Amino acid sequence: MSFSLLGLSQSLLKAVQQLGYTSPYPIQQQAIPAVLKGNDVLGIAQTGSGKTAAFALPILELLQKKTTARNRFVTCLVLVPTRELAMQVEETFYNLSLHLPQRIKILAVFGGVSINPQMMKLSGTDVLVATPGRLLDLVEHNAVKLSEVEILVLDEADKMLNLGFKEEMDRIFKLLPARRQNLLFSATLGGDVETIVTTQLHNPVTITVEAEASVPELIDQVAYQVAPEKKGPLLRYLIKQENMEQVLVFASSIRTADNIVGKLKKNGVEAAALHGDKSQGARTEALKQFKAGKIRVLVATDLASRGIDIKFLPYVINYELPRSPKDYVHRIGRTGRAEASGKAISLITPEDAHHFKIIQKKMGRQVPILATDELDLQGL
Ligand code: AMP
Repeated sequence: MSFSLLGLSQSLLKAVQQLGYTSPYPIQQQAIPAVLKGNDVLGIAQTGSGKTAAFALPILELLQKKTTARNRFVTCLVLVPTRELAMQVEETFYNLSLHLPQRIKILAVFGGVSINPQMMKLSGTDVLVATPGRLLDLVEHNAVKLSEVEILVLDEADKMLNLGFKEEMDRIFKLLPARRQNLLFSATLGGDVETIVTTQLHNPVTITVEAEASVPELIDQVAYQVAPEKKGPLLRYLIKQENMEQVLVFASSIRTADNIVGKLKKNGVEAAALHGDKSQGARTEALKQFKAGKIRVLVATDLASRGIDIKFLPYVINYELPRSPKDYVHRIGRTGRAEASGKAISLITPEDAHHFKIIQKKMGRQVPILATDELDLQGL
């Protein structure tokens, strides 16, 4: 599945590509066409599912066809429970809107900071991302008008209700025009969320996505800090040192995958590459040999690896990190299944350090990072 099949314009596809999104997540596949058609949407999805882009992309597309916001009248209102989420949603909208021919003004407002600068910035805002309390303050100050909102998004509705925003939300609903498009996202359904769905949404298209794959308990994760030029020798060292008989290595490009395979073979380690440039026949054959234990190392790109139907692998190595934390979890989830334990190793260059921190934060696990200065990589 490609983003280009979802009905989005070229300028949005370009932004998506620059963010490194290669294919749409399930919630995006389903929500984007529904929102573009003008339907109300009920999305049962968690953070990490890609829900922000699932509503931001089609909203930006729709806004291109609408007249821009007048003065204090916002066209799209996104209600969120927290300041952090407000900033994240604003950033996603902003990044996705970068190449649009018509400029879309996006602003996040939230409590806990002074209201004046927000009031001054509000004029001409098309997409307002707001926490409920601060939004009502701004309405009271006459800084924003909600009577021309065409699209309402309730993001993390269950959390908003849990934080006690029910009354504020009800007051906001009364300020909105009756005719509008409504998108509601929530990790859970029930109680007050259900009431909002029945009173505010009209025949919503309902989309449910499974909770994000979590990291299996039995995976032993470790990372090695390494200079870029030492990655190849370190990989060969680890394969030999740990006597790995079956290991899946991830590379981010076809070229790197081929290079890794070439070097391994030169060093007497049986290896094959699995990527988009290989014919289906070659891929099937490589996989067959890998499963049969005739090839010790399979080097794959993320895309090609989706077709690998091996139930359990003892070792996964990230020669390069994936851009998205979700892909990281996918990759390492190929080991440590069922009752068997597995090991996931990542090679981290100084440039990757920050990104690896983000991955660890998203996954909610700390990974020990080992130094490699003491290792004897000579002759590898
Ligand atoms: P969200 O659930 O909206 O908070 O998104 C979770 C993470 O997934 C964010 O870091 C996004 O940048 C990332 N993301 C969203 N959609 C995609 C996609 N189609 N491919 C790769 N990463 C994505």
